[in-house]
Amino acid sequence: MDADQNVEIVSFSQLGLSDALVQTLSDVGYETPTPIQEQTIPLLLSGPDLIGQAQTGTGKTAAFALPILDKIDINQNSVQALILTPTRELAIQVSEAIHTYAKRLGRVRVMPIYGGDPIQKQINRLKGGLHIVVGTPGRVMDHLRRGTLDFGNLKFIVLDEADEMLRMGFIDDIEWILGQGQSPEGRQIALFSATMPREVRRIADRYLKNPVSVEIKHKTLTVPTIEQHALQVPERQKLNVLTHLLETEAVPGGAILIFARTKVGAADLSEKLQARGYEAEAMHGDMSQAQRESVIRRMRNGQLEIVVATDVAARGLDVEHIGCVINYDIPNDPESYVHRIGRTGRAGRAGRAILFVTPREARLMREIESYSGQRMKPMKMPTLADVAARRMALFKERILKTLEEEELGLYMSLVEELAQESSRDMAEIAAAAARMAGGDKPLVIPAEPEPENMVVSEGGMVRLAISAGRNLGVRPNDIVGAIANEADVPGNAIGAIDIYDDWTFVDVPSQFRQQVLEGMAGAAIRGRNITIRLATEKDVPPRKSWGKTDHQAKRRASSSPLGKKRDIRKGKKPGFPPKKKP
Ligand code: AMP
Repeated sequence: MDADQNVEIVSFSQLGLSDALVQTLSDVGYETPTPIQEQTIPLLLSGPDLIGQAQTGTGKTAAFALPILDKIDINQNSVQALILTPTRELAIQVSEAIHTYAKRLGRVRVMPIYGGDPIQKQINRLKGGLHIVVGTPGRVMDHLRRGTLDFGNLKFIVLDEADEMLRMGFIDDIEWILGQGQSPEGRQIALFSATMPREVRRIADRYLKNPVSVEIKHKTLTVPTIEQHALQVPERQKLNVLTHLLETEAVPGGAILIFARTKVGAADLSEKLQARGYEAEAMHGDMSQAQRESVIRRMRNGQLEIVVATDVAARGLDVEHIGCVINYDIPNDPESYVHRIGRTGRAGRAGRAILFVTPREARLMREIESYSGQRMKPMKMPTLADVAARRMALFKERILKTLEEEELGLYMSLVEELAQESSRDMAEIAAAAARMAGGDKPLVIPAEPEPENMVVSEGGMVRLAISAGRNLGVRPNDIVGAIANEADVPGNAIGAIDIYDDWTFVDVPSQFRQQVLEGMAGAAIRGRNITIRLATEKDVPPRKSWGKTDHQAKRRASSSPLGKKRDIRKGKKPGFPPKKKP
């Protein structure tokens, strides 16, 4: 048993939240508050202004959203809380999170407000009455100036990712919003920031009243010395990558422990793995002690190779032959990471830990590294060829083991007899037997077919065609935003965008190809459902140069929120739009 099993676990109900919220958190599968939640929720419920040093991935959204939901009055038809975020994506994400947490509270009206969305549409919704506004500073300011947003009853302001807002040039807008006359006195302000640059500090000094600072102090833990790897993987590809890893990481007689963030996530993932033919079981806090013990027993006896667990359920778990821990969801804090990876490499055995990191979580990963004082080795996503090679190697091992350990006399005479009767080579007969013994998993996996005539640049960018263009008023930001949101591809990875009357062509790094095709299928751009497919040589006029055309790139750089140069060439070319429809 580990010392870590005796750590006192705080529950959500101890933080002072209403029963309805506590029940909702159980519904969504959260087992315990994260450290930032444990500290900030009671504070925000009791009233003071707050400075929270926390980054994305630590659970900070719930840390401010839950107290806000507890304190707003839904019978009062006015905007009572404002959350400012640096990006449209974050505004949508926070708004969705609040929506989820509000499920048992009745009709809480929350809306994201960001630039790029038609303002009239927003105005109409604002007129309908809202309780919580989540917005980017520029657009919020715009509505305040127009008088379409009224902060007369505002009680809470949250500045989320303040350092990011600073970096994106929103500091003046924020000051304007916080400034005299724009919002009533007596409101509670919470400022969250991963770092505390001088300007952010200055905002806090000027606008927050006697704020309480919350910074998570980490306990020192002994970090096990095991091989640690980090694998960059977009959210949507996680499951696929995991199934490959379950093969490439499998060692005979070894178990793999996968960590999910929530009870629901663990149950879901184990079901998905079962549906794909893996023998996997979940282990989480909603299961009875007897159920959990049965999972552990089977894992110990070697009857169960894959377990998907939550942090709480796996505390103190001591099973010697867990050869690999896969952090499918990044833990909310570095200590949990250390507890998790400590489940492998037990009893002096070698252990491996693999951490999945989505683009948004890069920062949290660095925090984990600096806490543990150990660097994770970057790891590539395993390919189908890796999976095939691993299957082949395991198969060979099985045959060699049989050769060494089993009595084969009878089978030898059988093979000799067969060879004579059929006038076949012994090697052919062995091959046929191997084929039969190989089971249902093919040893040779056909490589992913390369779509014909796909347009690929020297830089490894693949062109995709989207069925929306200038006639719908499409602008590059719509494309970047949609791909970033729907396919979880970082905006700055997206290459050239060419907009024509009915079509837009966009270059994406080839490793994101499938993800973008899947993520964007059926997505809406400018309110219209689009189709997306690979562009082919036939419908794309050959690009003269794949490099950036300088004057256009510069023009974009100044107006792009990402500050990223893009090659935009608008205009209808002869022979366009493409004849071949998707
Ligand atoms: P955030 O830092 O707010 O972006 O949250 C990161 C992720 O952690 C989100 O997917 C949340 O749903 C999840 N999360 C937040 N609080 C908890 C919790 N107490 N237990 C498990 N997951 C959580």
